[in-house]
Amino acid sequence: MSSSPLAAETRRRRTFAIISHPDAGKTTLTEKLLLFSGAIQIAGSVKARKASRHATSDWMEIEKQRGISVASSVMQMLYRDHVINLLDTPGHKDFSEDTYRVLTAVDSALMVIDAANGVEAQTRRLIEVCRQRNTPIITFVNKMDREVREPLDILDEVERELGMPCVPMTWPVGKGKSFGGIVNLRTQAMTVFESGSERRPQDFETLPLSDAGTLRRRFEGEWDAAAESMELAAGASPEWDHQAFLDAKQTPVFFGSGVNNFGVMEVLDALVDLAPAPQPRKSSLIVNRQPQEKIIQPDEPAFSGVVFKVQANMDANHRDRIAFVRMASGKYTPGMKLKVQRTGKELRPTSVVTFLSQRREAVDEAYAGDIIGFTTHGGVQLGDTITDGASLQFTGLPFFAPELFMTVLLKNPLRTKQLQQGLAQLGEEGAIQVFRPQAGGAMLLGAVGQLQFEVVQHRLKAEYDADIRLEGCQYTGARWITADTPAELRAFTDAYPQRMALDAADALAYLCTSPYDVRLAQERFPRIHFHPLREHA
Ligand code: GDP
Repeated sequence: MSSSPLAAETRRRRTFAIISHPDAGKTTLTEKLLLFSGAIQIAGSVKARKASRHATSDWMEIEKQRGISVASSVMQMLYRDHVINLLDTPGHKDFSEDTYRVLTAVDSALMVIDAANGVEAQTRRLIEVCRQRNTPIITFVNKMDREVREPLDILDEVERELGMPCVPMTWPVGKGKSFGGIVNLRTQAMTVFESGSERRPQDFETLPLSDAGTLRRRFEGEWDAAAESMELAAGASPEWDHQAFLDAKQTPVFFGSGVNNFGVMEVLDALVDLAPAPQPRKSSLIVNRQPQEKIIQPDEPAFSGVVFKVQANMDANHRDRIAFVRMASGKYTPGMKLKVQRTGKELRPTSVVTFLSQRREAVDEAYAGDIIGFTTHGGVQLGDTITDGASLQFTGLPFFAPELFMTVLLKNPLRTKQLQQGLAQLGEEGAIQVFRPQAGGAMLLGAVGQLQFEVVQHRLKAEYDADIRLEGCQYTGARWITADTPAELRAFTDAYPQRMALDAADALAYLCTSPYDVRLAQERFPRIHFHPLREHA
């Protein structure tokens, strides 16, 4: 990487997602992390966000009713002269698609686990995605102030679930009522635990490990047990290898208690010191009508970014949507002319948020790794590539073949136009997948999780005044279809006219009623490609 000002800005950025099972303490930890940026008012607003989301947007009533987080969002903070972009992920499994896409926008992940429950179901799914993408993971073992499991036991489980060795960076002394604190294995000092949500790191007492007498006197049996397990852990885990972490072959593990702001600064320091700066990203470049792979470096001067999330604006009175763009390269400045590659049209946002600009020391620029929110009236879809001119398309934003299907029936046929508009927009947001059967007939909705149907039904009524009924149908799966030649494709679609449908991006899909369907169709048409996952390309 060069020593240009652009490269320097890029180097001081860290973009990561927090992943966890619901209730492991993600919201609490996020709030504490934000405290370190000195922006206390932002920290308070994380909770406020949890509450006010419901007030500002009607459809999110669903979220309130179920006590889950539907939307994911972005927070930016400054810490040790680094710009840290933190991306929240929805915890509920029915919105996992949204989470997968958020994970394509980050360079690392912070995994929070509840020390009593270990690695839980939802975390496991998220780990899989990180593993597929080789995303480096930092592990935070939370709630050490509770009666939780033994640290060695937890490490063991994390290792098994992640399929990579853990390297402890801190180590707990005791737990629950007799939680004494954590040992920083790098600095060889122990930070003594005190409970209280308003504590700052400098409020905690630290003791050097060399003062074994004091440690033993103060923490008695807990100290001896911790010293023993620490030694066992050191023997069982490999040496810290930074490159192995960056290659997703090792995870550093931190212990603490989010709610007490204890052990949190160590995690933030790890993000700065260990987590990767914005990485190069794959794209395809059209040369002589042929796509060619091109790697975009973060410090290239030309602006480029990809829309990884589209969200209806919080204001229910407007049809505005916010397109969240992860910048891959270049520098953003307000007023800059940008183009949506898919359509070749200029992006004309009504407003633009770079998340730091909300702060007092307004920074009206953004660099690779940063997230920019463009408010638009449309014309932008999930997966769209935005550039200041170059013709390239980022790849890798996943759409998963739905496993649940419903037929849409409109209660009042006079609202057909509103329904079509609503479905088109919700489809573009990725809230649900919309399939138009080519043989005609009712539209189909495809989802990965049942709750997606409820959200869409609710939103169609609240935002588009389209009251729908959903009915079950025979479909249980879909595969996106490609062929090497147009003639082969035509032969296939002619053979299954009733099964062909187009999705929101006009990609052709084959609808199936059982797994055998696909197998039989594949046997009959060996040269047709059936894709369970569509990558925006
Ligand atoms: P999320 O669903 O993962 O965002 O979890 P929250 O941050 O909302 O936390 C879930 C519950 O665990 C809340 O009641 C928190 O107060 C509590 N909690 C979070 N961190 C800790 C911790 O370190 N110790 C204890 N005892 N409770 C915690």
